[in-house]
Amino acid sequence: MDRELPDVDRTRVADLVNAHPASRGLHDLRTRSTGVGQHIEFHLELDSHLSLAEAHDITDEIESSVRAAFPNADVTIHQEPAGLDDERLDHRLRPRRH
Ligand SMILES: [Zn+2]
Repeated sequence: MDRELPDVDRTRVADLVNAHPASRGLHDLRTRSTGVGQHIEFHLELDSHLSLAEAHDITDEIESSVRAAFPNADVTIHQEPAGLDDERLDHRLRPRRH
């Protein structure tokens, strides 16, 4: 049965993302263990002034470090300018208090 990866793995993903100097954070981290492999998906926050090429390179580097730690995982990264107030799954599951 599919289920979320344990908290220790979720924390490891977040630590890897945050370890990159260009990372401005992540949200909507979703993980799934299928028995044969894993799926890891999140929104990566980056400075909005980066060129597309820069953002792509940074994302590749972060993707590589996550893949190195989770060799059986499919990794999907959505890039997003830091500070964007998008509609987040995190908020839908746990609404913000204003
Ligand atoms: Zn987002």
